Amino acid sequence: MIRQAKGKTPRRPPPKKPSNNQKDPVGVYCRVRPLGADDEECCIEVISNTTIQLHAPDGLKANRNGEYKETQYSFKKVFGIKTSQRELFEDVAKPLVEDLIHCKNGLLFTYGVTGSGKTHTMTGSPGQGGLLPRSLDMIFNSIGPYQAKRYVFKPDDKNGMEVQNQVDALLDRQKRDSQTTVPKTPTTRRIDPEFADMISPEEACKADGVDEDSSYSVFVSYIEIYNNYIYDLLEETPFDPIKPKPPQSKILREDQNHNMYVAGCTEVEVKSTEEAFEVFWRGQKKRRIANTQLNRESSRSHSVFIVKLAQAPLDADGDNVLQDKNQVNVSQLCLVDLAGSERTSRTRAEGSRLREAGNINQSLMTLRTCIEVLRENQMCGTNKMVPYRDSKVTHLFKNYFDGEGKVRMVVCVNPKADDYEETLLVMRFAEMTQEVEVARPVDRPICGFAAGRRQRNQAFKEELTRRLEERGGPVDGEFPTVLNQLLQSFPPLPPCEISGPNDDVTLPRLIEALEKRHKIRQMMIEEYNKTANMLKSVLQEQDSNILSKENFIQEQRGRLGEKDKMIQNQKNEIDRLEKKSKMLEYKIDILQKTTNIYEEDKRSLQQELESREQRLQRELSEKRRMESRMQGMVTDAKLKWEKECERRVNAKQLEMQNKLWVKDEKLKQLKAIVTEGKTENRQPQRPSREKDKVPPKRSASPSPVPSPYDGSQSSLSSLEPIYNFSQTVRSDPHFPRPGSVSVASCISEWEQGVPQSRRQGSQSPPDSRKRAQGLPNSLSRRRGRCWAREVPVQPADVDLEETTHWTGPPVRPLHRRSHSAGGERWVDHKPTSNVDLDTVLKPNIPNAIKVNAPNEKALSKCDRYVLTHQEVASDGEIQTKLIKGEVFKTRGGGQSVQFTDIETLKQENPVAASRKRRSSETDPDGEPMEGDWTDVETRCSVAVEMRAGSNLGPGYQHHGYPKRRKP
Ligand code: ADP
Ligand code: MG
Repeated sequence: MIRQAKGKTPRRPPPKKPSNNQKDPVGVYCRVRPLGADDEECCIEVISNTTIQLHAPDGLKANRNGEYKETQYSFKKVFGIKTSQRELFEDVAKPLVEDLIHCKNGLLFTYGVTGSGKTHTMTGSPGQGGLLPRSLDMIFNSIGPYQAKRYVFKPDDKNGMEVQNQVDALLDRQKRDSQTTVPKTPTTRRIDPEFADMISPEEACKADGVDEDSSYSVFVSYIEIYNNYIYDLLEETPFDPIKPKPPQSKILREDQNHNMYVAGCTEVEVKSTEEAFEVFWRGQKKRRIANTQLNRESSRSHSVFIVKLAQAPLDADGDNVLQDKNQVNVSQLCLVDLAGSERTSRTRAEGSRLREAGNINQSLMTLRTCIEVLRENQMCGTNKMVPYRDSKVTHLFKNYFDGEGKVRMVVCVNPKADDYEETLLVMRFAEMTQEVEVARPVDRPICGFAAGRRQRNQAFKEELTRRLEERGGPVDGEFPTVLNQLLQSFPPLPPCEISGPNDDVTLPRLIEALEKRHKIRQMMIEEYNKTANMLKSVLQEQDSNILSKENFIQEQRGRLGEKDKMIQNQKNEIDRLEKKSKMLEYKIDILQKTTNIYEEDKRSLQQELESREQRLQRELSEKRRMESRMQGMVTDAKLKWEKECERRVNAKQLEMQNKLWVKDEKLKQLKAIVTEGKTENRQPQRPSREKDKVPPKRSASPSPVPSPYDGSQSSLSSLEPIYNFSQTVRSDPHFPRPGSVSVASCISEWEQGVPQSRRQGSQSPPDSRKRAQGLPNSLSRRRGRCWAREVPVQPADVDLEETTHWTGPPVRPLHRRSHSAGGERWVDHKPTSNVDLDTVLKPNIPNAIKVNAPNEKALSKCDRYVLTHQEVASDGEIQTKLIKGEVFKTRGGGQSVQFTDIETLKQENPVAASRKRRSSETDPDGEPMEGDWTDVETRCSVAVEMRAGSNLGPGYQHHGYPKRRKP
């Protein structure tokens, strides 16, 4: 509220000013105009009476990847295309007019892109009056009966208002009447037909609570701000058609209450809506003319129409306006039609026009900046300087934002697609503006006079007129009835007819009576004064009571306001959060979709990983298998070589022994020859038998020592007993026992000999030297003979799964026992160290003599010999060898065995690695468990590849391996 000078103390102390912490947000309304006839695409949708939604036009959507295509904006209220001017006025401007009448300021501006309907909203068109004519109409409808006479209020040129005395006012009125031809009073509504339809009396509005004890007057001014210059549109300048003077710009000043005003601006007192609108229209025409003359675009200027309402209380009589400047209240309503908010580029301005456009843009930019800073200060509690002074528009309205009145903004939008981007900026600005709060204006102080003066005075006047009429018309100088009654209460005057100049009776009596009257009057005055004083004190008491009550009420109101504010804030917060949550929901949706895609990816990758792991596992186990196989092979080879070495050592030993023997023998023979010679010479005593036997060979002497390997039997026959198997077994402790390592080595030696012999062919005699290395002499010799044999040795009469069928060199049976007598008899030699494998492969030989160690007795009874020899191979297989041979009687009466055949039985050790093929699958009864597997072919074909860790049992862990032939 712009109050007048506060120098003097008001008659009554104003009620305690409530702490000015009550604030209201800037009311932002949105008006959507209908699409033009040429426009097709609509990019705005009103989704509720507070929210609109912007859709990016089709052309723009492609460019804006990432940004949301739809945005929502909320306002205090949204007016759709069908909103009438009246509806808009009721919601937006009516409260401001009510405030104006109640001494509060208001600022209403329209903001938007050119063509969005700002002027339509503010001014309107014939038949569709805008906010401005409607506001004026409402003001005059409300204050009509209480308007002061013209020139009672007079602007003081310092943004203040003073009250002229009645005489000056009368003189001014007379001057005006003589000067102009305009009708004195607005009683006759002579409206300019140009704007006649703007104001429709049917839609008249009226404010309540107009103070009837006040007098009102309306003043209007109309300015234009163009290119940051202020022009007075109501200034009366003498028009010079030859050299038209360019309009002079005005400056802004600050009054003593720190309110901004346009210095020297014309303020026209208007007494009716029509008059006011006519003044406006005058300004409007001037503006249009100036624009055409100076080639300006009206859309680039801001127009400000200011309505000032001056009000002052009537005096105690209720007759005249109180002649007290302190009691004059001036409130103002600014109606601003801002320039188009579009950016410079849009206007396609050039040169100086560009600068102008830049300035227009600049002033709107400043408005924007000011609002931003205000908002920031309010929200963050900062105290940044608001750059009001940067442009005239913001500077002029600085006080409003500082809490001198209500601020409202109508954001006009055109839903056409071309405006989309600009509209987006407008929306953002508008949303931000809503967050700025301005202090709520306080109520004006109440005038010190009793209320209802105007009415009482009116009533009194009416009553007087009535009574005078009763008496037959008014008489000049007649006292009012009340006064007459008062006079009648005095004692009557004595007759006062003076008889002469020296009348001593009448005059003193008259003097006495008058003195008496005077005394009574004095007394009455005293009485009156006393009563008045009493009354005054009572009244004062009442006053203070009322004052305290008022203060209390104010306080309560303040609190109520705070609560209201809080509620409003919370509502705003809820709105904001709701918007945010909507946005977040949208984001969540997107994120969820992304997550799903990633999960799918993850699953497929996991599957791939699993399959690769499986492959790896397989390869690993394959590798392990290979490794152990290689290990087995290595140990095999190692063992073989160890055996080989041992065998060679043994062979060497034997050879050396043999040599020793041969030498011994030679020596003996020599000795015998020597001794024989002697005895022959003296007394020949040679035993007959020996003589028979030994051929006369001496002549051939010195015969070379017969090699034990030369194949001649005769020279070695005497040695036979010594090499007799049984004898050796019995007598020579150094001779390796059967079943022991030596036997094995002998066998292996023998075995090795076989292929060699094969290589050399059956007819060629084997390298006897070599063969002799591993066997006792007699055996090797015999074998030497055997190689000459034509008949292959028959394999043992046992059903074996794996048999080494040796079709070796023919063996000539020597002194073989006749089989025809009663079948073969076997010596079954099983060393005690053997493990009973309890398999089907166990040879079952009927009538065999079972021995742990071979003895001559057993051998002598049989003609065949079998040694069961076992050894555990490095790969865990127990290998059973059945070494078969034939028993021969030696010439010396001993027994000799000639090995003819070896059967190798292989059995997989169940404790060792399961990869080995089992040689047999039998149950304890010795019956095959699975008939289908009885032959080797079937077993191999039914090889089942099982995974490690399978619990199917060892029965299925059968691997088909090709038959391995023992060399
Ligand atoms: P601005 O002042 O924002 O540049 P105007 O008020 O001059 O825009 O409006 C441009 C045109 O659109 C005018 O012809 C006006 O009559 C029309 N118009 C604007 N708003 C509306 C509305 N709400 N209803 C009907 N016509 C409108
Ligand atoms: Mg306009």
